[in-house]
Amino acid sequence: VISIKGVQKSFGQFQVLKDIDFEIAKGEVVCVIGPSGSGKSTFLRCINQLESVDEGIIIVNGEIAGYRRKDDKLYPLGDRAVARQRQAVGMVFQRFHLFPNKTVLENITEGPIKVQRRNGEACREEARSLLRRVGLADKAGSYPSELSGGQQQRVAIARALAMKPEAMLFDEPTSALDPELVGEVLGVMKELAKSGTTMIVVTHEIGFCREVADRVLFMDRGTIVACGTPAEILENPQNPRVKSFVSAVL
Ligand code: ATP
Ligand code: MG
Repeated sequence: VISIKGVQKSFGQFQVLKDIDFEIAKGEVVCVIGPSGSGKSTFLRCINQLESVDEGIIIVNGEIAGYRRKDDKLYPLGDRAVARQRQAVGMVFQRFHLFPNKTVLENITEGPIKVQRRNGEACREEARSLLRRVGLADKAGSYPSELSGGQQQRVAIARALAMKPEAMLFDEPTSALDPELVGEVLGVMKELAKSGTTMIVVTHEIGFCREVADRVLFMDRGTIVACGTPAEILENPQNPRVKSFVSAVL
């Protein structure tokens, strides 16, 4: 579903991503771990075209992110075409970014109705079913300020899913939550993983990686240092950098 080839990204002189190659197949769950500042968020933001890349290409769902190909040449896409492409990936952030003056249901239907111009009643029906899925069937009429952090994050997940993305990207979705609320969000994510959602999850929740990930990817200083099954990366890391990181977070 997503294929990344030779991607490089710098902020000024500082190279955040150095020659990244990565592929994720449909239905696969990849967890990304690594030290602070290693480029994990930038990696996700490039996939979602929140950042542009300096070198290399990112292919999502058969389309080159930010470009169209014609006669073997690449032409940059305009804002509208980029906005359309971005709908192929849903993103959930550490902070929930819900619209404070809209109800939970309106938060979820905003994108499908306004951006995708789908039928309002159908979208509301679907939003209710998504709310059941994230365990918030009774909160449709509530405002974000009336919800706990864990509930708000589950609404944010439902809102991303409402756009029917090909893949979901999560950037430390539980790290802003009180410890007792982490489980309910991870529970929803586990259910998504089980039902075949393609997911890339940046997280420090090693238990989640172990249980849910098909592959774990370790990033350090802008490179993918190691990538393998949870057992390979977490239980028996060969690389010394991975080893010291994993023993520090466990
Ligand atoms: P963390 O675990 O702390 O979230 P991360 O692995 O997600 O870290 P990134 O947020 O991708 O790391 O940042 C990688 C590096 O790029 C950091 O040194 C950061 O300061 C720098 N950086 C990120 N975004 C920008 C930006 N918009 N402008 C300049 N530098 C940036
Ligand atoms: Mg980050």
